[in-house]
Amino acid sequence: MKTVIIGAGAMGSLFGGLLSLSGEEVWLVDIWKEHIDAIRSKGLAIEEKQKAQAISVNATTDIVSIGKADLVLYFVKTYHTEKAVTDSLALEKEDTVFLTLQNGLGNEETICKQIDPKKVLLGVTGQGATLLGPGHIRHAGWGKTYVGELDGRSTERIDRIFRMFIKAGIETDVSSRIHDLVWEKLFINVGINALAALLGLKNGQLLDYPETMKLMEALVSEAVEVANRKGMWIEVNPIDRVKVVIEATRENRCSMGQDLDYRRRTEIGAINGAIVREADHLGISVPYNRMITDLIKVIEKTF
Ligand code: NAD
Repeated sequence: MKTVIIGAGAMGSLFGGLLSLSGEEVWLVDIWKEHIDAIRSKGLAIEEKQKAQAISVNATTDIVSIGKADLVLYFVKTYHTEKAVTDSLALEKEDTVFLTLQNGLGNEETICKQIDPKKVLLGVTGQGATLLGPGHIRHAGWGKTYVGELDGRSTERIDRIFRMFIKAGIETDVSSRIHDLVWEKLFINVGINALAALLGLKNGQLLDYPETMKLMEALVSEAVEVANRKGMWIEVNPIDRVKVVIEATRENRCSMGQDLDYRRRTEIGAINGAIVREADHLGISVPYNRMITDLIKVIEKTF
């Protein structure tokens, strides 16, 4: 299976490195030339638990040079998805499948605007990675990955991706309710990211103050109401789950926090901003998510 990963940042490089190490044919594509040049000349360096290894992976800035792909995996930030999908059309043949493991809501819709939905697969991942510099990442989290067909069917192609990930040491399951799992991951990002980002806190500090606990609960409760109204089936108590994740990632500065620290654009539009959009369609009020979205947007405008 020829896999092309579009967006070879922290997560694209992690998946690309692990898949390549397991013997898969993988191509990393990124618009960041210095990073691609470093991977081509020295290999991709993945740090993990104080150990580093250099992995040889195909990498290019020229997507057209790759030819056709069996699997396209999107790992760009959500605000770059539309352009990445346009670029990926060059890789398409009759049986190419297109998978996203990005965070947030709306990636599926953005992909399906340009790609036949019959070819699109969805997933979420609890893996975590940090970009340290050109050609250099840290593997920082080991949660489970879920993949699924949009209609929940069990198919040969989803099974093939599942087996490929497992072989690469990426703990994975196939889910027949992948949209619900996208929402479950969204609750975590809704409860943690913007709040910790704005307040300059590490994840764990959100549990240290009654004020942040109340705000986190309000943000997540609004998102749960939207999910329920959309007919999502939420298995676990989302607020308890967010607390567990906060505890497990106590020392982390979340990605949105790092984005604000380095004055970069955030994924707010696909996280709390997506809750606001969905709530507007449903005609329900989500004041906490609306306010935090606007606050982050104003900070972005000052960059
Ligand atoms: P990142 O910023 O490290 O990497 C994104 C890469 O995409 C960048 O290198 C950028 O140059 C590249 N890019 C942008 N437009 C492109 C295009 N048109 N073609 C090719 N490359 C392009 O981001 P990340 O942390 O790897 O996150 C990617 C996605 O995965 C996000 O949606 C994020 O929320 C999600 N995610 C991240 C983590 C994590 O631990 N980092 C965990 C789970 C999910």
